[in-house]
Amino acid sequence: MLRDRRWNERAPTMLQLVNAGHKSLADYATIATRGLMDEIRRLAEPLVGKRVVHLSATAFGGGVAEINYTLIPLMQDAGLDAEWRIIKGGEEFWNVTKTIHNGLQGNPQGLTAEQRQIYGRYQELNAQEFEDDYDFVIVHDPQPAGMIDHFPNSRASWVWRGHIDFSTPNQEVFDFILPSIRRYDAAIFHMREYVPKAEGLPPCYIWPPAIDPLAPKNMALSAEDAAYIVDQFGIDVERPLLTQVSRFDPWKDPLGVIDAYRLVKEEFPDVQLALVGSMAHDDPEGWDYYNQTVAYAGGDPDIYILSNLNNVGSVEVNAFQVHSAAVIQKSIKEGFGLTVTEGLWKTRPTVAGRVGGIVAQIQDGETGWLVDSASECADACIQILRDPQEARQRALRGKEFVRRHFLTPRLLRDWLVLMNQLLGNDTSGAEVPVVAAV
Ligand code: UDP
Repeated sequence: MLRDRRWNERAPTMLQLVNAGHKSLADYATIATRGLMDEIRRLAEPLVGKRVVHLSATAFGGGVAEINYTLIPLMQDAGLDAEWRIIKGGEEFWNVTKTIHNGLQGNPQGLTAEQRQIYGRYQELNAQEFEDDYDFVIVHDPQPAGMIDHFPNSRASWVWRGHIDFSTPNQEVFDFILPSIRRYDAAIFHMREYVPKAEGLPPCYIWPPAIDPLAPKNMALSAEDAAYIVDQFGIDVERPLLTQVSRFDPWKDPLGVIDAYRLVKEEFPDVQLALVGSMAHDDPEGWDYYNQTVAYAGGDPDIYILSNLNNVGSVEVNAFQVHSAAVIQKSIKEGFGLTVTEGLWKTRPTVAGRVGGIVAQIQDGETGWLVDSASECADACIQILRDPQEARQRALRGKEFVRRHFLTPRLLRDWLVLMNQLLGNDTSGAEVPVVAAV
């Protein structure tokens, strides 16, 4: 029995369309590296009018939503007929997809027969609400990955984009989604290490995601304006602040951040900590973990635990990052870690777990700090608070690294290269790394 009432009513509607707004490529010309904008225009020409749909689980919270709000309007501005649709699910489905997500990141918990059946049933129901009339269907992450099974005769090229850390998956969970992944025309991973060691995979492309430097989350915000915004949440803007922005998720280790903060406080009693985390609707564990985090903070008045329910939106996240003495992302698994990119782009001293995509962003000792434990995290923060000038030098180098590698125009270009290749168009001179499946 399906518990979600919406299914019982059998809505005649299609999968919900997300309004991603408008953006203009021309606005990015001064930020992108030389030649990139020309390359984008050249690559977009043969794709004008092509119908593209992105499918994902949620339009709010987490990296996929963050990326799509910029990528899709820019695809549209480049001339593609691009849209974004959200799959439907009930609590039982989101519980299963969270188990899958955790399993793919290495959690030993496997899937029961009932969970497998729930996943399959929702793939079928979503497929019924999806009109397969596109040139490209781009599927993000595991939640909608199985929809492809219902379109054996599709004329579209189907591309699967994995956003999580697949370096040490729970094999049983991975084997469950593998037959679907094999049906795609291409798969994309953040890092070479994430490409699964499995037979029969489609060509696997490797490229990292990116942040939008012009979005409210990342646009230039003066120190005064940032302090003004942060002050409204009760933070004492005259005292140092450490911030981690992330979903309330064990992989993000907010409890470890609190441990690190407590060690820093022994040397800098004035220090404050902000844990800012939105609640994504496809993340049923979020509330439990939020409550655990609040309990762990033990009523410390210098720990601020905030979420979108406190009206912390993009500009507020921007302000917290800009105002912080150090930005922390103490993940123990991390697909890429856009919050790290965001911190570096704002020239913030950034301290992050030595895991997953974070190591592609931070060169330890050069552009930031990579840490393996709460005590190393605390040591890095203490170093930053003791010598802000030296910390700033690292942060400046980190910003330039982000400018070269992790801004949206590069991401758009990579997508355009792939789409041209899938259509058999000549892309010589514009390559993206591709690895054959093992
Ligand atoms: N984010 C946000 N508010 C929050 C928590 C996260 O806006 O309260 C954003 C964050 O700024 C980043 C994205 O969500 O842009 C998280 O992406 P990341 O790759 O760091 O992690 P994911 O959630 O995808 O695992």
